[in-house]
Amino acid sequence: MKKVIVITTGGTIAMKYDAATDGLIPAVNGADLVEAVPALKEVAQVEVVEFSNVPSGYITPKSMFELSKTVDQYAQKKAIAGIVITHGTDTLEETAYLLDLTVHTQKPVCITGAMRGASQTSPDGPGNILAAVKTAACDEAYNQGVLVVLNDEIHAALEVTKTHSTNTNTFESPAWGPVGRVYPDKVVIKRHSLYLQKIQPATLVDDVHLLKVVAGMDDFFFRCLVKKKAKGIVVEAFGCGNVPLAVKNGIEMARKNDIPVVLATRVHAGRVVNAYSYSGSASSMKEANIILAGEITGQKARIKLMLSLGMTGDVAKIKEYFDA
Ligand code: ASP
Repeated sequence: MKKVIVITTGGTIAMKYDAATDGLIPAVNGADLVEAVPALKEVAQVEVVEFSNVPSGYITPKSMFELSKTVDQYAQKKAIAGIVITHGTDTLEETAYLLDLTVHTQKPVCITGAMRGASQTSPDGPGNILAAVKTAACDEAYNQGVLVVLNDEIHAALEVTKTHSTNTNTFESPAWGPVGRVYPDKVVIKRHSLYLQKIQPATLVDDVHLLKVVAGMDDFFFRCLVKKKAKGIVVEAFGCGNVPLAVKNGIEMARKNDIPVVLATRVHAGRVVNAYSYSGSASSMKEANIILAGEITGQKARIKLMLSLGMTGDVAKIKEYFDA
């Protein structure tokens, strides 16, 4: 029987209702989590490692980076077939993407979570852990990048996003759909991402900010970030990369101050492209040497910029990471 390590970090999957505060709070440890799923014994030999027990809103890029090292530490052991990480769903896609870019192992790495706490009616955590362990123990999950497994669907870390605040079917890959599914009898992986990429700096640069563009936005936040000498800015623009004129000025000001600027889209699917040439469009900011994020969301572009800056301060090289 294959051996799978389950690394627990916290999240709703490890929470129970607390009458005193009338809400869910961290309560269940890693061993309890796995014990709640007796069927695991038929799938793999499971060993639990508790990394943390926090809501995922407490998880920082630096702790994601530490988690990445922990994953590699276990994955390099010969006896380990795959790794599962349990995580809060709020920042799950950011951790998944950071791991996708940084882990050295090609062994299956699956992340899962839950939308309902362990004490709620019909919690989804146990089923999700089972599905994630099945996937991590499956040969087809080898060299697929980090996989997000919830609701019996398998998604590529690069493509997936949380789409609903409470629904158990919250994780979707809006542009391309799931890469596979977990059936009661077997795991089926139907496609392989051609865009697996690695950015593996010794450390990341976390002073990188995400600004969402809204109608009538001015350059206030850009002035703040220039003043604080921020190391990088990601702008979630309209449509295929368009911004109001004041935001264009803000971007150009940031670039004059040598701050790398990445342009992503606030639309939930599709790429940033040079489709227009009017002032405020992506191509009208070409001279400022801005970086186009492609298809990834603003929050993932921020993770990518943090890692890229850990490798180099050269905007041309950072651009290569985003164009790859
Ligand atoms: N607030 C929780 C967290 O991300 C939500 C969840 O786990 O679903 O930790």
